[in-house]
Amino acid sequence: MADLYKEQLEKAGKFHGDICGGIISGTKLAMYGLEQLGMDVNKKNKNLMVFLEIDRCMSDAVQAVTGCSLGRRSLKLNNYGKFAATFYDISTGKAIRISDKEDDNFNPIEETTEEKIERYANTLGKDLFKIQEVEVDIDENELPGKPRDKAICSVCNERIMDGKQEIIEGKILCKSCLDKPYYKII
Ligand SMILES: [Zn+2]
Ligand SMILES: [Zn+2]
Repeated sequence: MADLYKEQLEKAGKFHGDICGGIISGTKLAMYGLEQLGMDVNKKNKNLMVFLEIDRCMSDAVQAVTGCSLGRRSLKLNNYGKFAATFYDISTGKAIRISDKEDDNFNPIEETTEEKIERYANTLGKDLFKIQEVEVDIDENELPGKPRDKAICSVCNERIMDGKQEIIEGKILCKSCLDKPYYKII
């Protein structure tokens, strides 16, 4: 158990840039998520999708360990700012949400990086995390694979993939033309 964890931890640390606290716990969380779905860490799990609830260090560990990514459309972010992620098996619909048990008592343990690594290497996932069986309602357009829908915005003429357009009074609009975009053209 400990060796496999340390091997994955190294992989996640390389991907992230260093082995910090979030990588230590995120690696364990990712491995526990795979285990819950009966998936293997060192295999390509084509049917796996992960829904992250935070964009911090832990997210990089989940990406490195599971191989799920934004570009493969197998990694999604619902940013609740919470140390949690849901592991979803596309083939069965089974979904397990995993969150941090330490949050429950809100008592951070004082330990060095090495001590934390040893603690995570030698503790079972069930003693570190809380699991919930959940149902995830996924739009077909969110799934990995070939694009199912393409459109052109009637205002900016830019291409819109994957059903992200809105139809207003019969006209196709992209989200940036419809709402206030995150950027301002200068
Ligand atoms: Zn970090
Ligand atoms: Zn537009």
